[in-house]
Amino acid sequence: LTILGIESSCDDTAAAVLRQSGTNRPEILSSIVAGQADLHASFGGVVPEIAARAHAEKLDLCIAEALEKANVTLSEIDAIAVTAGPGLIGGVLSGVMCAKGIAAATGIPLIGVNHLAGHALTPGLTDEVAFPYLMLLVSGGHCQFLLVNGAEDFSRLGGTIDDAPGEAFDKTARLLGLPQPGGPSVENEARNGVADRYTFPRPLLDRADCNLSFSGLKTALMRLRDQIVAEKGGLTRQDRADLCAGFQQAVTDVLSAKSHRAMNIYMESAPADPLIAVAGGVAANGTIRAELEHVAREFGARFVAPPLSLCTDNAAMIAYAGLERFRAGKQDGMDMSARPRWPLDQQSPALLGSGK
Ligand code: ATP
Ligand code: FE
Repeated sequence: LTILGIESSCDDTAAAVLRQSGTNRPEILSSIVAGQADLHASFGGVVPEIAARAHAEKLDLCIAEALEKANVTLSEIDAIAVTAGPGLIGGVLSGVMCAKGIAAATGIPLIGVNHLAGHALTPGLTDEVAFPYLMLLVSGGHCQFLLVNGAEDFSRLGGTIDDAPGEAFDKTARLLGLPQPGGPSVENEARNGVADRYTFPRPLLDRADCNLSFSGLKTALMRLRDQIVAEKGGLTRQDRADLCAGFQQAVTDVLSAKSHRAMNIYMESAPADPLIAVAGGVAANGTIRAELEHVAREFGARFVAPPLSLCTDNAAMIAYAGLERFRAGKQDGMDMSARPRWPLDQQSPALLGSGK
């Protein structure tokens, strides 16, 4: 089976071709990602209208490039998988319209994919994984613990009640005058910092659930920064490094504590091959990754972190989630809708227009 994947739900336009022979692990024949960071840089965040227009302009080129790199033509494609939500509606619509256009012109089956399902299934692209596994999705827009019971069966154990960790890293960088994206710059500064020089809160640890909160960290950081500036007139290099280290340690501790809770729930199901996987850009953080590996070891579980190119937004994961839906005999009609909001545990295809 050869699947074309299309992704345009945030600020990356992406297309990929995936091929599966029999029931082997699918092979990524091509994965093209065209970012838009340059278009949004001067606005300090993603501007939905600009994103939608850029997707509409870039999609055709991305798809052509993905097909060419994979050395396949449209006539060899068995299904088109496209992100149908959740995300910025203009972007999602651009992708859905494009996919429908190709499907209408060629008769190739159309499959709507939940972007979060794409992230959640990604470990299967690089590793042998058995259901159920525990997934921690940590990105610029999301933070949640998911039990992945099957390719279309997810239970959400908990998630952030405010900011996503990536967003918190980005805001921290902005507050300290460090370059965007904030994650890598804060991690870099933190290497020379002392994590316990400044005190940061550890929100929601007193609650027994798997919910998290990160907006208080940003407020704490702002207060500490203003205090230092008021006392000394400015931040030294070391102050900045210590603030970054303290912030990063707080995020790590919160993720670690809540991962323990999630693992406890997951282990109750006595999985034969216990596995915790991560996805999302924040999974690139060395300190966070090391801590999650540590948690996995404590529970005697395997830890899987896909390479960064598959952790961040891409179309290979969308093609893969589409492949699973296609193999389950599902496809969507021309009335398939684009959905700005689409919780993963409402996976029912009926919500996607006339999904069969
Ligand atoms: P989503 O995929 O949820 O719609 P997104 O596209 O913003 O959101 P990703 O592309 O998965 O998210 O990841 C980008 C985020 O990851 C940014 O917020 C960035 O700061 C963060 N990030 C990247 N590298 C690191 C790092 N080394 N440490 C911490 N955060 C990081
Ligand atoms: Fe994403």
